[in-house]
Amino acid sequence: MTDTLHIVGGGMAGSEAAWQAASAGIDVVIHEMRPKTGTFAHKTGDLAEMVCSNSFRSDDDEQNAVGLLHWEMRAAGSLIMEMADTHRLPAGGALAVDREAFSQGVTERLMRHPRIRREDTEITSLPADGHWIFATGPLTSDALGQAIRAETGAEALAFFDAIAPIVHFDSIDLSKAWFQSRYDKGETEEERTAYLNCPMDRDQYEAFIDALLTAEKTAFHEGETAGYFDGCLPIEVMAERGRETLRHGPMKPVGLTNPHAPHIKAHAIVQLRRDNALGTLYNIVGFQTKMKYGAQADVFRMIPGLEAARFARLGGIHRNTFLNSPTLLDAELRLKSRPHIRFAGQVTGVEGYVESSAMGLLAGRLAAAAIKGHSLPPVPATTATGALVTHITGGAEAKTFQPMNVNFGLFPPVEGLKGGRRGRRDRYKGYTDRAKADWTGWLGAAG
Ligand SMILES: Cc1cc2nc3c(=O)[nH]c(=O)nc-3n(C[C@H](O)[C@H](O)[C@H](O)COP(=O)(O)OP(=O)(O)OC[C@H]3O[C@@H](n4cnc5c(N)ncnc54)[C@H](O)[C@@H]3O)c2cc1C
Repeated sequence: MTDTLHIVGGGMAGSEAAWQAASAGIDVVIHEMRPKTGTFAHKTGDLAEMVCSNSFRSDDDEQNAVGLLHWEMRAAGSLIMEMADTHRLPAGGALAVDREAFSQGVTERLMRHPRIRREDTEITSLPADGHWIFATGPLTSDALGQAIRAETGAEALAFFDAIAPIVHFDSIDLSKAWFQSRYDKGETEEERTAYLNCPMDRDQYEAFIDALLTAEKTAFHEGETAGYFDGCLPIEVMAERGRETLRHGPMKPVGLTNPHAPHIKAHAIVQLRRDNALGTLYNIVGFQTKMKYGAQADVFRMIPGLEAARFARLGGIHRNTFLNSPTLLDAELRLKSRPHIRFAGQVTGVEGYVESSAMGLLAGRLAAAAIKGHSLPPVPATTATGALVTHITGGAEAKTFQPMNVNFGLFPPVEGLKGGRRGRRDRYKGYTDRAKADWTGWLGAAG
């Protein structure tokens, strides 16, 4: 067994992982299948190609969780952030980049590094030994996807995400919504009150169906729907099949009694289910959708109790290969069944260029430390990087696990700061100040 680190996939995560490991003195081979084998979204053979938008989103490191992730990555010497800053385009508070110059810049820097080599190969199986990071992304090749499925079981590797919108708990109006599981099912009080319910009368339901039918939708990309199955239909498609379909599906009003109006039978009920162990996030059950983001916020705020909802993320359905990380990966991103293999990037169930790169940064550092024979202290869950990795490897509900963007709902609350909309600026500043101090401490301790 050699001390070389093999990285499969030279996208956002693989490129950052390679940079971090090589910077720590480790020899790295990047196995990238492009340009020999392409995907429906990538257009070049460059490393770190941005497949769609050219934005790294908000660069505000005081009031925004993704801006904080930028800050943490810069502090850790991230190549992805350095190249994004070098090729930055004017975009207000967002960090937008010249995509070609960016990925060419990343490619050149990696290929000039004396410890990094690239092999244009598609890896189609999980190796028996060595040091490996798999960062093959949402469009992991079919052969490798099948090999991972054979290792993890069919339930544990998804080829599509079906993301229901996720709402910050403290933005839900509890004078209208109530806690109750259908038919009060469950052994414990916690299980019997696991859901939040939002009731609708007939007029509200009819208006909601009209809004669903007329809202603007996004189309699937060409080639994206191969293998798409009926089990995760968008709610608007269910509504198109008949105005009553949702009332017999995710919005059925049975087995629930509204304590705010016990004698009035709701015409339909929307249910939300807890999405993280902290109880700060709730997903709207069965509401995966292809509505455009702007339309989603308007339509979902028609639901009684969600008029002032703040969304940690909006819904979507995409071609997306990702692991059920809460069951398969340990806190160091290692596959529990084969600990010499780490996963990184979007395939771990984070979503977005920045989040994927951050998981590459962490995997690269962890792998480098392991090859050198030491281990790193756990990343504090109070940092953006730590909140994300804690969520995907344990904090998230494994049964309903879907990809996640970084957001403040993943952070442990800061004691003594006001909740709700009014306290938001101070609260977010509290999160980011704490995160910066803890991340700086971790970098110092990790060496
Ligand atoms: C159509 C589409 C649009 C998207 N739009 C956006 C967007 O606008 N903004 C955003 O933030 N995110 C977007 N994403 C998500 C985006 O893909 C990720 O944010 C980011 O690229 C993930 O980084 P990654 O390194 O995990 O995967 P990637 O950047 O996709 O890198 C994975 C790499 O692995 C290679 N690979 C795959 N299988 C193998 C194999 N078997 N052997 C060798 N190499 C292999 C691929 O060629 C690729 O280079 C989009 C995704 C898709 C599919």
